[in-house]
Amino acid sequence: MGSADALVIGGGLHGLSAALQLARRGARVILLERSHIGRHASGASAAGVRTLGRARAELPLSLAAMEMWHAIGDLVGDDCGFHAYGQLQVAETEAELSVLRARVSGLWQDGFTHEEMVDAAELKVLAPALATHCVGGAIARADGAADPHRTLAAFMRAVLAAGAIVHESFGVSYLQRRGVLWRAGNGNKWFEAPLVVNAAGAWAGQIAALAGDDIPVETKASMMMVTERVAPFVRPTVSTVGRKLSLKQSDQGTLLIGGGQQGRADLQNEIAEVDVRGLAKSAAAALALFPSIGRLRIVRSWAGLEAKTSDDIAIAGLSPSAPGLMHLFGFSGHGFQLVPALGVAAAELLLDGYTRLDLSGLSPQRLTRPAPATTHGIQGVPISSQSETPTFGLDE
Ligand SMILES: Cc1cc2nc3c(=O)[nH]c(=O)nc-3n(C[C@H](O)[C@H](O)[C@H](O)COP(=O)(O)OP(=O)(O)OC[C@H]3O[C@@H](n4cnc5c(N)ncnc54)[C@H](O)[C@@H]3O)c2cc1C
Repeated sequence: MGSADALVIGGGLHGLSAALQLARRGARVILLERSHIGRHASGASAAGVRTLGRARAELPLSLAAMEMWHAIGDLVGDDCGFHAYGQLQVAETEAELSVLRARVSGLWQDGFTHEEMVDAAELKVLAPALATHCVGGAIARADGAADPHRTLAAFMRAVLAAGAIVHESFGVSYLQRRGVLWRAGNGNKWFEAPLVVNAAGAWAGQIAALAGDDIPVETKASMMMVTERVAPFVRPTVSTVGRKLSLKQSDQGTLLIGGGQQGRADLQNEIAEVDVRGLAKSAAAALALFPSIGRLRIVRSWAGLEAKTSDDIAIAGLSPSAPGLMHLFGFSGHGFQLVPALGVAAAELLLDGYTRLDLSGLSPQRLTRPAPATTHGIQGVPISSQSETPTFGLDE
């Protein structure tokens, strides 16, 4: 069917970013996407570009990614709708403010200065519509948000311009090692290459299992809703310490409200359904923080599927057992921001055997269970269970 230097399984932003960097390094790349580019988490994303509140294991990579976001036009020829309006985490009580103070002071002690405390007076300037009971917060001023669909289009254009081949409507149902080559196929169609990137999102645990790596992940179905357009209302992305809330205003004036409330995930049928009770909780949290939005109409809501790890930290690294295979998944609700940097890391790891970027806390080994190699097709791999409760940090 076809051969290449590298196969990328999954046409979300992580697959595209890896394909882009591999192709720019001169590798012949074939990307295989079961549906269409951006069909799942990357097309559903809130596209927050956030270092604020990142787990320490992801922070060095996240800071490297943030530098790349500030020059994203140089990477993909489009600004991806990225604005660095900051990300602001609000405290509603003195106890919550103490939590933020402890985090920010710990960061500064360790030389990380991207977060700062803000007092109630500055909060009023940063977000005048915030409820008056808010006592302060923490801000990462260089953070921001992008437009997920513009980002997908820009990465796709860049991938094709770099010479990679993209096959949509090609779902990989088997992955086998034959000598020095991997064969990824479906029925009697297949592609071969010595290198493979597993960027299959919510289904990446199944792809890992096909290669003999047992990396347990659960599935998230994070929900978003969007309001009708309003006049300029808030510039930074606002989250809180005590509620599942993330709120920002798009360039078009709509408010995007998320924060981690979960819908229903159906991996087998590739469906994420919204749960109206969860949406109501998001709306209530938004209203508590921004009382003036009470009469706004919600015009759309959706949910997207994504893999969640037990520690809510991404998996990015070479397979512990299978040569030439890189795992890139388990972003647990906050992988959009990491996209540009992880593409570089994937190309370096696969082509050079090492990366300059710090992936030490993201290794697949930390979660891999010893398991015999499977000969099952993808339908034979057990589907992981759904998780309703994020267990770490901020969620978009
Ligand atoms: C509602 C929502 C809001 C979010 N908000 C933010 C945010 O504000 N900031 C942030 O940093 N992150 C956010 N995230 C997370 C972020 O969007 C994801 O981490 C990121 O998009 C994951 O990209 P991906 O390429 O790994 O996965 P995906 O975009 O899901 O791509 C995986 C692709 O693999 C394909 N695939 C699966 N199996 C196969 C197979 N067998 N063969 C071929 N192809 C296959 C799928 O069809 C899919 O297109 C959000 C996620 C959701 C759902």
